[in-house]
Amino acid sequence: MCANYQFWLIYVAMTKIAAAIMVSNLDQALNLAAKAAELGADLVEYRVDNLAELPGGDGAKLVNTLIEKSPLPCIITCRAAWEGGECDCDDQQRVSFLENACLNGETRPAYLDFELASHQKSFNIRQKVELMVDHPGQVREVETGLILSSHDFDKRPVDLYQRVEAMAHAAACRVIKVAWHARSLRDNIEAFEVLESQYKPTIALCMGEDGLPSRVLAKKFGALLTFAAIDGQQGTAPGQPTISDLKKFYRWDKLNAQTKVYGVIGHPVGHSMSPAIFNAAFEAKDYDGVYLPMRIEPSYESFKATVHSWLDLPSLHFKGASVTIPHKENLIRFVTEQGGEVEQLAQKIGAANTLTVRDDGSLYASNSDYAGALDAVVQNMGIPREEVKDLRVAVIGAGGAARAIVAGFSHYGATVVVYNRTLEKARKLADEFTNPYGKVVAAPMDKLCDSCCQVFINCTPLGMHPNVESSPLPADFAGYGPGIVVFDTVYNPRNTLLLRQARAAGCLTIQGTEMFVRQAAAQYSLWTNQEAPVDTFTKVLLDKLG
Ligand code: NAP
Repeated sequence: MCANYQFWLIYVAMTKIAAAIMVSNLDQALNLAAKAAELGADLVEYRVDNLAELPGGDGAKLVNTLIEKSPLPCIITCRAAWEGGECDCDDQQRVSFLENACLNGETRPAYLDFELASHQKSFNIRQKVELMVDHPGQVREVETGLILSSHDFDKRPVDLYQRVEAMAHAAACRVIKVAWHARSLRDNIEAFEVLESQYKPTIALCMGEDGLPSRVLAKKFGALLTFAAIDGQQGTAPGQPTISDLKKFYRWDKLNAQTKVYGVIGHPVGHSMSPAIFNAAFEAKDYDGVYLPMRIEPSYESFKATVHSWLDLPSLHFKGASVTIPHKENLIRFVTEQGGEVEQLAQKIGAANTLTVRDDGSLYASNSDYAGALDAVVQNMGIPREEVKDLRVAVIGAGGAARAIVAGFSHYGATVVVYNRTLEKARKLADEFTNPYGKVVAAPMDKLCDSCCQVFINCTPLGMHPNVESSPLPADFAGYGPGIVVFDTVYNPRNTLLLRQARAAGCLTIQGTEMFVRQAAAQYSLWTNQEAPVDTFTKVLLDKLG
């Protein structure tokens, strides 16, 4: 146990980024390797699958030169087609090619990757492979280490642990490598457990969109290395981030065993801007955290099982998540079932967007959407939240966003009029949120032009890309003028038609990005107990929106 721990600590400091290159010719491979070195890779894996069958031993000679001239230490891999590679030779041919490729040149590769299945299959193959690498029985001076590897491009192999054990017990194996296609985020947890349980250097990676955490957090769990693509096109396995993504976006150089993990839970999440803004914020504040996209299938069962598995691994330090469609209701149910606390207003809204894991491990579900909208209005008006009670607010729309905004403003005592296309929905909202200090009434959409409210908040998609020429209010709306506030929750585009018209008429206007930034800032403060770097959030969001 103690020895394992010591090894593990050493590996934490050593986790490398390896750039995988599918070799087609010498110049192409060397140019890409030079680019990888420039981007910050520590190692390069040359995939020489297509060179084994070149006539006259040309492939092996090319590899000799490649190893000699490589700008980075290298792994040589000739992946068999049956293991997801492109080499159709049989094992004998592949091993002969590798012998010529790795032993005949002036320089040796740092590692040779060979499939566990072939290594186990034949004594003769095993013997030949072991002649090429360093191990306790090796009599020659050889530095090359053997990576025994196993891949499943479909699912987690049922015999995952038997495979890992076989590699661990193979004396010639210096590095254990397992990679499989993640069917869900839960697979990452198993990859971390494999890394934690080994005392040999190990690579445990999940492929596909759901496997990203295993690639980014490989350093946190002390893997020997993670693979990264040189650019968007160069990856050799699905789901590989680029070297730049790892270094700049996911803060690779700062990751360590104690780094706190956060994410955005939703389905889909690929389009979310939250990873960009939160990772930039952690960097700006030098906060030891990383933020990942977390796609979870829409059902409550999937949400529960996944979040459970992430919370149950203490060394992951999973400390919180932004939660979006379709899991906002699931978050309240989950935290309630776990005996955690649900913010009162989130309970009333029926949706929470923030999961916080407190220092004592207890869970807290809250809603930062209403606070984001409320703060966007009061801060732009230059008034404290307490003065919200003096406002008459027109909320246009009665969907999810309107619900959070009505809850927030009525909670602080404002008089709210909900205008909606479907009057019945507006009435339902008004009935639910009218309270002793904040009155909420419903009105049909065609009465909006008669409104005498001071604050107008658009909570419909009118004006949103691609329907940028629509607006809930006409350009000649008589209620526009100085002293009137118009807030559009739509943030793509930033300057909607509604805001342009209102600004031209002298109104104070507030863009939807301000709500987005402030709700994120509220989450940041809750998780870190620090003030959020709002300027960083805004800059990254505006850069992303273009
Ligand atoms: P939702 O639940 O689908 O509700 C949409 C509302 O808009 C409904 O009340 C609907 O009326 C009304 N509506 C839709 N199309 C309309 C039309 N053509 N004319 C008049 N009314 C129409 O959507 P949501 O989640 O509340 O989101 C609404 C908007 O809020 C989104 O477009 C998004 O841009 C914005 N939003 C912004 C933020 C932010 O951080 N800035 C956060 C969340 C949402 P019916 O009831 O009659 O169907």
